[in-house]
Amino acid sequence: MVDTPRRRRTVPSGPSAPTPELDVPGPLAEPCKFGVYTGIELELQSPDAISPAAGLGLEPPRFCGQCGRRMVVQVRPDGWSARCSRHGSVDSTEMYHR
Ligand SMILES: [Zn+2]
Repeated sequence: MVDTPRRRRTVPSGPSAPTPELDVPGPLAEPCKFGVYTGIELELQSPDAISPAAGLGLEPPRFCGQCGRRMVVQVRPDGWSARCSRHGSVDSTEMYHR
């Protein structure tokens, strides 16, 4: 069952937006501070640390780009979703619709 991809728009307020932390960037929001596949600070991460598949966005991110925490990753047949306890979740369908 595939839903139409949801586009997440930044809405200032709304009945379905109960999160008060509106200025918290998503786990993969630019600029990231940590490598999402390594959990290493980007300044310390060597380019070879990322596999080609990961570089193409084919692998789900394992770590939050904002805080380097390990994220809870769920892989589905049609994509993946990853959730940081601090920075919320990101879904592969959101990655394809920037
Ligand atoms: Zn985070």
